[in-house]
Amino acid sequence: MNSDKIIIAIDGYSSSGKSTMAKQLAREIGYRYIDSGAMYRAVTLYAMRHGLIGPDGSVDEPGVVNALEDISIDFHVEGERQYTMLNGENVETQIRTLEVSNHVSPIAAIAPVRHALVKMQRAMGKTRGIVMDGRDIGTVVFPDAEMKVFCDASAERRAERRYKELSDKGEQVKYEDVLANVINRDHIDENRAESPLRCADDAVRLDNSRMTIEEQNRWLLDLYNRITRQ
Ligand code: C5P
Repeated sequence: MNSDKIIIAIDGYSSSGKSTMAKQLAREIGYRYIDSGAMYRAVTLYAMRHGLIGPDGSVDEPGVVNALEDISIDFHVEGERQYTMLNGENVETQIRTLEVSNHVSPIAAIAPVRHALVKMQRAMGKTRGIVMDGRDIGTVVFPDAEMKVFCDASAERRAERRYKELSDKGEQVKYEDVLANVINRDHIDENRAESPLRCADDAVRLDNSRMTIEEQNRWLLDLYNRITRQ
């Protein structure tokens, strides 16, 4: 077996189960897991806190771009748990709210924001041995990644999962609002000018609408074994 560590890129639509399976694979094979969406969420939280997003959702783009030099994002690992750190503060809970989800895609469409985060993501991948999930990992961040997966599931199925996740955390949300958010984010992510969400030509597609978490974890591990044993 080839013992060289590889880069694994897992992209796909909102709430398509990417992070659940990416995290599990990383744990199983001893790789580092990096949630690139958390980085866009952290920039969004910063923008919300600093008045760079108006009550109507309009974004002060030059303000966000200027703020980039004041933003540092990192991940703090504690055993099996991982926390997103924004300027040294653990913001893991705050970045997962529906409010942040509602503002993140316009922020992620700003080209200089993407350039800054892609630079950080590439630096995190320098040591290889990473599983990174997002929207542009296989197409832009690591176009040479040895393993690429693109996940999808029906919008309703994805909204159900996200609704359950938020409700389990105690957030009062309506299913219809979560569904609207999932559809709207996908639309913005697919249609932005800068590195839009799309499946890399050499990615393996997975529609997990009818799969259990265990089935998708098994599917991903099998794929990893096939690729690394070639
Ligand atoms: O993965 P998650 O749903 O947490 O990502 C939040 C948002 O961040 C996405 O809807 C997308 O707008 C943006 N994103 C991105 N590129 C990535 C990861 C996330 O544009 N690599």
